[in-house]
Amino acid sequence: MSPRLALGAFVAALVLVPLVPGLPVFWITLLGNIGLAALVAMGLVLLTGVGGMTSFGQAAFCGFGAYATAVLSTHYGWSPWLALPVSLLVSGSAAVVLGLVTVRLSGHFLPLSTMAWGLSLYYLFGKIEMLGRHDGISAIPPLSLAGFELTDPRAIHYVIWGTVIAAAILTLHLLDSRIGRAIRALRRGQLAAESFGINVARIKLIVFVYAALLAGLSGWLYAHVQRTVTPTPFGISAGIEYLFMAVLGGAGQIWGAIVGAGLVTLLKEALQRLVPALFGNSVQIEGVVFGIALVALLQFAREGLWPHLARILPAPVRLAPKAAEALARRAFGGDRNRPLLVLDAARKQFAGLVAVNDVSFKVGRGEIVALIGPNGAGKSTTFNLITGVTKLTAGTVRFDEAPISGTSPQVIARHGIARTFQHVKLNPDMTVLENVALGAHLRGRAGLMAAMLRLDRRDEARLLAEAACQIERIGLAEHMMKPAGSLALGQQRMVEIARALAMDPELLLLDEPAAGLRHFEKAALADLLARLRAEGMSILLVEHDMGFVMGLTDHIVVLDFGTKIAEGPPDAIKTHPAVLEAYLGGAA
Ligand code: ADP
Ligand code: MG
Repeated sequence: MSPRLALGAFVAALVLVPLVPGLPVFWITLLGNIGLAALVAMGLVLLTGVGGMTSFGQAAFCGFGAYATAVLSTHYGWSPWLALPVSLLVSGSAAVVLGLVTVRLSGHFLPLSTMAWGLSLYYLFGKIEMLGRHDGISAIPPLSLAGFELTDPRAIHYVIWGTVIAAAILTLHLLDSRIGRAIRALRRGQLAAESFGINVARIKLIVFVYAALLAGLSGWLYAHVQRTVTPTPFGISAGIEYLFMAVLGGAGQIWGAIVGAGLVTLLKEALQRLVPALFGNSVQIEGVVFGIALVALLQFAREGLWPHLARILPAPVRLAPKAAEALARRAFGGDRNRPLLVLDAARKQFAGLVAVNDVSFKVGRGEIVALIGPNGAGKSTTFNLITGVTKLTAGTVRFDEAPISGTSPQVIARHGIARTFQHVKLNPDMTVLENVALGAHLRGRAGLMAAMLRLDRRDEARLLAEAACQIERIGLAEHMMKPAGSLALGQQRMVEIARALAMDPELLLLDEPAAGLRHFEKAALADLLARLRAEGMSILLVEHDMGFVMGLTDHIVVLDFGTKIAEGPPDAIKTHPAVLEAYLGGAA
């Protein structure tokens, strides 16, 4: 059975359920509630499971959607359909405002702030006169289609589940795209994403608003299904339940949202019946049992339930990308006599430690320059100063005459500077191909809408073909469709080089690229770098293998304890007394 067939079978089952003769309406209503919750949980899967931003306040966005349509359709007589865009606008705008403040927070401050707004919005809904205070708003009109009122739970079932399936498919499309890769890089590898020109803050906000829109949509549907809204379903405890659904279902899996919503909704329903039957009506301990059951489930399925289910389902077949029209290449224009990169008295102090001590050097166009020195000499810190990861204490960095010091990694990447990291920063769960395609982010155009509607396929095919081409170039074609985390460390370093090349950089910064490579792999890498230089690319590399450095480079800069102690062509450096002193401690 193919994944498509599995989805087809699921949809067919949903279509058939209301047609089962004698099925109590109660079950259809319950299934509808699962669908409504699944919409919210799906947003949370994207926000928390994929994006790594934990939100306890998601129910509040349902509230915005529900109250907006409730007010418009009761007080002002709007049709629910006309109110839908307003509901989404209200939830979306609230998310922009809250998101601008919260997504910048890190660690536990983000979940704490979502709790804060979850609590305060609940009280706000209950205080506003127009929203009916704690009594809420009732007599909300039902949805209608072609003059036909959708009051029958069977008809509502189709509307809800049609929406859920459509939302799931659109969201899956989104994740499998240029923007989707950026979203998936949020949880593990923000720094790498920024270093390839991705505006991480903007991507976070996009995810935040997307999740809120799904919640708002659920709220809108809820209002016209329940026909009455009160503050309770939009409070903090509902927010916690939604989070449980997203996590229990399988934190990073879109279909897991449906599994989680089903599980939590059914568990609550079962406990509401079972507990009073066992303990009598007087003891209200459903909540306690519910909490214990959820914790037990989490113990049993750390990764959520979807991965367990997915084991029975067929694994999706991942095909290597087809050839596509090549992306435009950068022209290495510039005046050959002017250096490409200039460090002028670059300085970095960490408290009392001077990691980079007023270091100046240049990288010429089409040159390979090596930065060498003992461990802790300040080489990686110098890379971080050039790429904007670390702010300079003093001095300047200019690229192609333009000062780039003081700007962000994302802006510096746009100049055409690509890098690898000494400590590999790939997303281990994404395929090698996807990791490398992330490097080509700036060379694509397709945005969120295009991705959801699959209008991005041409753009996407070109990005993937470029990524595939770079992977072939570094000799890892047969590993293209494997998760990056499954490769040996030396291979992962090579994947980082492919990712940097996918950006089509003018300057390539490589931090210990040959570490962990075998002899023949080093030779292949040296060949590749020499070819890139011949094509006009400039390369700055940090490397400990002196054979590798001496045979390849045009110019060498030597650091020791943050200070430049020598620079010159390889032959001069080999015999330079200060260099021998630093490396061999004077023993030579
Ligand atoms: P290299 O790459 O040459 O081995 P680094 O640039 O990584 O050296 O480190 C240079 C010095 O700066 C080391 O003493 C290191 O401990 C220190 N250092 C690097 N990063 C930081 C940081 N973020 N905070 C404090 N000290 C740091
Ligand atoms: Mg280093």
